[in-house]
Amino acid sequence: MIEIKGVHKSFGDLEVLKGIDLNVNSGEVVSIIGASGSGKSTLLYCINAIEKINSGNIIVDDIDVHDKKTDKNKLRQNLGMVFQQWNSFPHLTVLENAALAPRIVKGFTKEEAEEIARNELIHVGLGDKLDVYPTRMSGGQQQRLAIARALAMKPAYMLFDEVTSALDPELVGEVLDTLRLLRDDGMTMICVTHEISFAKEVSDKVAFFHKGLIEEMGPPDEVLGNPQRERTQQFLSKVL
Ligand code: ADP
Ligand code: MG
Repeated sequence: MIEIKGVHKSFGDLEVLKGIDLNVNSGEVVSIIGASGSGKSTLLYCINAIEKINSGNIIVDDIDVHDKKTDKNKLRQNLGMVFQQWNSFPHLTVLENAALAPRIVKGFTKEEAEEIARNELIHVGLGDKLDVYPTRMSGGQQQRLAIARALAMKPAYMLFDEVTSALDPELVGEVLDTLRLLRDDGMTMICVTHEISFAKEVSDKVAFFHKGLIEEMGPPDEVLGNPQRERTQQFLSKVL
């Protein structure tokens, strides 16, 4: 599980996270919603140690993420992350893209890595695109490639940062379907998203971020269906 306790994070004088407490249990889907600039992405970066924290603790499977002794590269293998902007290697095929990390980072042979990658690509519905170059694919397909690439590292956790925000509206559905598939597989996930109805459908827990704090957190029916805090109500009235 992921345990986040009292996490503070500043960039210079700007305090972006002001004491975040959040637990994500194995198999849970936690959605994070909130206005732009409220610290959602920063929290994800702190979870996989891209960013340092100023105080507090983040524990992933009993490993203290920000302990100096923690092997950050090993930790990140267990935390797959997919961003808003997909970034595959244009000179490699879809299969080669997805096989790259298992080969380079985990030391699998080319054949082994491609076997793992092929299975993940089939899983996200790209089984007929293995030999295609990513630039030839739609944004939705490229985003599914990014997901397959992360899954090829066999992470226990997946962190998604607004993975549908840059997509044309008609391509959002296929990417959300892929996330549903992972949820049904039992993947533990944190999804930063603006897709409120999706969050309501798939999440075990929703956290509403406001200016570096979790303003309201709970089951989706409560936070999204019957929010108690005025700021949550205001935010939802703007995005729904
Ligand atoms: P969100 O994902 O909720 O939109 P972010 O976590 O990206 O918010 O950003 C929160 C705040 O931190 C913003 O004010 C942003 O400008 C600031 N910020 C993010 N990253 C950096 C950085 N590397 N250096 C300085 N300020 C940053
Ligand atoms: Mg963000």
